[in-house]
Amino acid sequence: MNNKDIKGMNIKKLSSVLIFIEILLFLLSIFMSVKVYVSHKNVDRITDDYIGIQSDIYSLQTASDLMSAKSRQYVMTGEISFAYEYFKEVNDTKRRDNAVSNIKERISDVGHGAAEPIESALEKSNALMEKEIHAMTLIASISEDNKEYYPEELKTYILPDDEEKLSEIEKKDIAYSLVFGDGYSNKKLSIRESVDEATENLLGEIGEYKGEISGIYSVSFTFLMILLALSVINFVIITICLFRLVLHPLDLSISAIQGEKTIPLCKSYELNYLAVTYNTAYERNASTRLHLKNKAERDELTGLLNRTAFNDLVDFYKNTNEELAFLIMDVDKFKTVNDTYGHAIGDLALQKVAKLLNECFRSNDFPIRYGGDEFVVIMTELSHEQRGVIERKLKYINDTLQKEDSTEIPKLSVSVGVAFSDKGFDTELFKRADDALYRTKEHGRCGYTFA
Ligand code: GH3
Ligand code: MG
Repeated sequence: MNNKDIKGMNIKKLSSVLIFIEILLFLLSIFMSVKVYVSHKNVDRITDDYIGIQSDIYSLQTASDLMSAKSRQYVMTGEISFAYEYFKEVNDTKRRDNAVSNIKERISDVGHGAAEPIESALEKSNALMEKEIHAMTLIASISEDNKEYYPEELKTYILPDDEEKLSEIEKKDIAYSLVFGDGYSNKKLSIRESVDEATENLLGEIGEYKGEISGIYSVSFTFLMILLALSVINFVIITICLFRLVLHPLDLSISAIQGEKTIPLCKSYELNYLAVTYNTAYERNASTRLHLKNKAERDELTGLLNRTAFNDLVDFYKNTNEELAFLIMDVDKFKTVNDTYGHAIGDLALQKVAKLLNECFRSNDFPIRYGGDEFVVIMTELSHEQRGVIERKLKYINDTLQKEDSTEIPKLSVSVGVAFSDKGFDTELFKRADDALYRTKEHGRCGYTFA
């Protein structure tokens, strides 16, 4: 077979494509996993920012409420410890200022909408402070305490001239109206509204961000699942190809080689190439062997089967129960032929006998040159009831050999011993035929005897 005629899938190309696809799917899966991981990290960070901003907003509101409460308590009781707590929040804890600067720092994907209202809330809270310190200074001014340790703000706040001159009750009234009046309450409400607006904006932003991120999540996850499914399908294809194109044909090839047969063709180009190469060599080798075997089993002079072939046939027919006839034939006075006409003529005479045997016997009989001037014939599928067939053949052979012909070969004759068996080539068959031959020789040659 020409190499171009070899069919089948090219495993090298196919596996390169499948491996390339697998690597591509693998890299895409890594890319999508990184994308999912980054999204997850972002959600984490944004959630932290959200919680932080929310807590800052709460912190500002709490601080503002605490300042209101402490200033009011001081105004109501004149107990300076309330003023201390008030200024501790303003100067040390500073939760309102910290909240605003923290929120500004935290602004990322969320927080933009919260920054402005919260700044406005701080401004309003600072405006309230003015009222609160004013009210607290009025109360401090009527206190009989030693004012040395009073908060600095209360000592330095300058009351309007007209208020300085007012009576204790009038000052208290003004202080009350400053921190309990409608103006104060409205400002307080306005702070609450700014804080609520910041919270609402923050919630809106986080909701929007959540929608966006869950979109990325679901697309990435779906894509990842598709990649995984494709990867599994590709893996299954690789496994099937490996089994059908490589492993199974390899098994068949090994069995064929072990069974001394040609390798069957398969679906893979490379293995078919090897199979065709092997089969060509195998067939060439087989025909050489057949040729050598024929040569080894043929007698060179007559072309009949030789003694080796005879032994093989005996081995074969020993194990059967076939009916067969066995003939041993010896050329009469052949030494004389050699002595009188020479060895070359003797050879021609042997060839003539062999040719006659080939002509007379059927294709399922085996004429064999046993050695020297001795021939044997194994006649298969023949019982002793058909001895007439053998007699006619042997008569014909001797008649032919006795006739003069145009060659230099002298008249010849053969003596034959015949034995039958109905259970293959039994051990006695050769001896019985040989004894019969001996009797033919004894009775004057040129004839046959049945055992
Ligand atoms: P008989 O009738 O008793 O068989 O007498 P015979 O002379 O034929 O005696 P035998 O069968 O013993 O002689 C066989 C002879 O065949 C002896 C040998 O020289 C001769 N011979 C054996 N092989 C060959 C051969 O290949 N070519 C030739 N020309 N002669 C051979
Ligand atoms: Mg002889």
